Amino acid sequence: MKNKHKDDTTHFGFQNVNKHIKSYLVNAIFKTIATKYDLMNDCMSFGIHRLWKHFLICQSEIFYGCKVLDLAGGTGDLSILFSKLVGQTGIVVLLDNNTEMLKIGRKKLRNLGILNNVQYIQADAEALPFANNTFHRIAVSFGLRNFTNKSAALLEMYRVLNPGGKLLILDFGVPIFKLLSVLYDLYSFHVIPKIGAIIAKDMKSYQYLIESIRMHPDQETLKTMIANTGFQDIKYINMTGGIAVLHYAYK
Ligand code: SAM
Repeated sequence: MKNKHKDDTTHFGFQNVNKHIKSYLVNAIFKTIATKYDLMNDCMSFGIHRLWKHFLICQSEIFYGCKVLDLAGGTGDLSILFSKLVGQTGIVVLLDNNTEMLKIGRKKLRNLGILNNVQYIQADAEALPFANNTFHRIAVSFGLRNFTNKSAALLEMYRVLNPGGKLLILDFGVPIFKLLSVLYDLYSFHVIPKIGAIIAKDMKSYQYLIESIRMHPDQETLKTMIANTGFQDIKYINMTGGIAVLHYAYK
């Protein structure tokens, strides 16, 4: 009985919560911070998240006519970059389960004149509304860590990716230098929630963000999880000393 109860729980930051409510809690966080999400990203990372995302694009082996899924794409930073590269014969699907994040993403892309080759879909990453073998590329940036069942989501990514297609996962990792790790902890736990309180008027959401980073699998564990899903040739590249990591793999 005790074990059964344990299996029903998952982490939400440092808390243990019932698996059924994690997605509601995550959804509530992104609903609250959606309007300040882009500004907060720039402030917290000093703009470095843009370089990490550009690096993902450089590794994506994208081509004209490519069909790309920007999974948990939020306010669409990757979709903007992909849409320029796939051309008018390609398609980028910006999928997110959060209404507010998608709304801001769509507005941002439209304001940039990106109209024809991006589709917006509200759906859960753990139950993708696509046929098998639909996409040439799937990219997830800073999304995986928020999913309730990461393995289920990885299986869905595998199912909807074309054979030979490439998966790219960008997320936070574990710093590879001790000193960096200490400084990163100080900055994360003492400065970021305060920036959240000042800019987004929301300290709690950014406390979750930091905790969720610490609960995310480290580089090697995530590599194993990707391999267990069936992906091949899995590699990862540490960026900024391992603060961010790009994993990539093929179906
Ligand atoms: N990819 C964007 C970026 O790099 O800026 C947004 C990342 S944001 C940290 C995480 C996104 O994951 C949010 O937009 C959130 O709504 C979305 N998300 C969380 N759980 C999800 C799920 N189960 N299915 C789809 N999207 C989800």
